[in-house]
Amino acid sequence: MSKKRIAICRFEHEANTFSPLDAGLEEFQNTVGGILIGEDLLNQPDRSDEIKGFLNVLRSSEEIIEIVPLISASGFAGGNVTAEVVSYLEENLRQMLREAGDLDGFLFALHGAMASKEIPDLEGYFLGIVREALGFEIPLVCTLDHHAILTQKMVDLSHVILAYRTHPHIDVVETGERGAAILLRILAGEINPVMDMKKIPLITPPPDDGTNSGTLKELFDQLEVYEAQPGVIACSLCVSFGWADVPEFGWAMVAVTDNDKTLATEIARDHATRIWELREGVLPDAMLPPDAAVEAAAQAEGRPILITDAADTIGGGAPGDTTTLLNSLIEKRHKVKGLILSHLPDREAVQNINEEDIGSTFTLEVGGKRDTRFSEPLSVTGKVLCVTDGIIEDVGKFTPTPTIDAGKTVCLAIDNIRLVLTERIIIGPQPSIFRKVGIEPFEAKIVALKTGVGFIPTYGHVAKAVIRSDCPGTTSYNMKNYDFVHIPRPIYPLDLEMKWNVDVG
Ligand SMILES: [Zn+2]
Repeated sequence: MSKKRIAICRFEHEANTFSPLDAGLEEFQNTVGGILIGEDLLNQPDRSDEIKGFLNVLRSSEEIIEIVPLISASGFAGGNVTAEVVSYLEENLRQMLREAGDLDGFLFALHGAMASKEIPDLEGYFLGIVREALGFEIPLVCTLDHHAILTQKMVDLSHVILAYRTHPHIDVVETGERGAAILLRILAGEINPVMDMKKIPLITPPPDDGTNSGTLKELFDQLEVYEAQPGVIACSLCVSFGWADVPEFGWAMVAVTDNDKTLATEIARDHATRIWELREGVLPDAMLPPDAAVEAAAQAEGRPILITDAADTIGGGAPGDTTTLLNSLIEKRHKVKGLILSHLPDREAVQNINEEDIGSTFTLEVGGKRDTRFSEPLSVTGKVLCVTDGIIEDVGKFTPTPTIDAGKTVCLAIDNIRLVLTERIIIGPQPSIFRKVGIEPFEAKIVALKTGVGFIPTYGHVAKAVIRSDCPGTTSYNMKNYDFVHIPRPIYPLDLEMKWNVDVG
């Protein structure tokens, strides 16, 4: 018996359509994992993505399976991908499909929130290219990020869709394994999947504790209850990536059953209804305007008090150099007893400051250079306390490597403020950047962080209070801060009083 030939492919990028920075080919090439084509996919031992999950399962059936590696391209999170990225991926995908020969199955790991200015549903677009080459008969299993913006086209072009269950995403490899196992069952003639999807008109930022507690945990736990029913293959809930102004925006519930469309529809309807009923529970915590946030932090007991600015989170695709909160910190600094810590990436500002400048006072324009849409540079005058390299420990394990290189790093004192400026961006709120310049952040009165949920592993255990500030930016938790043009309306909570039920939705 000849082996079944299964193609594996992965495109991953989360497009924040409000970001002033587009994601070009360079962003993909510089991301860990980057772009790998053909056999190179099989020779990267330290992967921790869906491809690893696919390989774990397929390699254990190697006597009946031949793995056909196509492309893996990862751009992490950023703005819209450029037209250059789209044509690069398209050309390579078409060529690899031509060279692949006859295939029996396809495993496609997609993010689900990849967009360009011209094509808001790039996953649907790439699935279309695969179908154009292979036809509609070949079983195709598509895995997605839990922040996917599921479109009807994606559902129509896949036999099975399944998504991560967790946020932070700790089941990426497992999702790949589940997808590959389902494909093997299809190829063995054991199951004949059919699916149905229901969209729910919700727009939300990621909740503070992810899927670990509260309503979101309840909603995700329920998926396992459905899956325990006979005839159910997979149930997924995609909560969408809130900062994407695209036409098919919205949460989506998708149920895959073994040849039972009625059951798939029933489950998708049932869960969509439950989600709508519990919608208040998935809204973010209250936020304060930045000035009020600083005053509240000044009066809070103990230290450190965190002030978070979720609107400029690099991990969510934001530039990370807005100055709104820093401006409030500077204006209100005299009300704070103790040190106030802040960090901005600013290549230009650190350029002309060197070790011999330690002790000197500089007036600089800081920040607002990467983000020219929601922010502007802020003029500050401070004394140089430290100039060093920015090799720091990745305390929160936000990257696949143990250290991060923030480049040249300068610490400025503006009275009781310690402003750390780095040549490069830093992923995650890292206490190590302050330690690098000789300051213990856990002993400061206020630590200002550009983070939504990322502070939990690095500061969560020591913070005496967390005060959320409502600043403008690319990843604001206040969805009212954006002028959405393309998303379907009404949508909750932008249209707070709207009525909805699953049959009209
Ligand atoms: Zn995600």
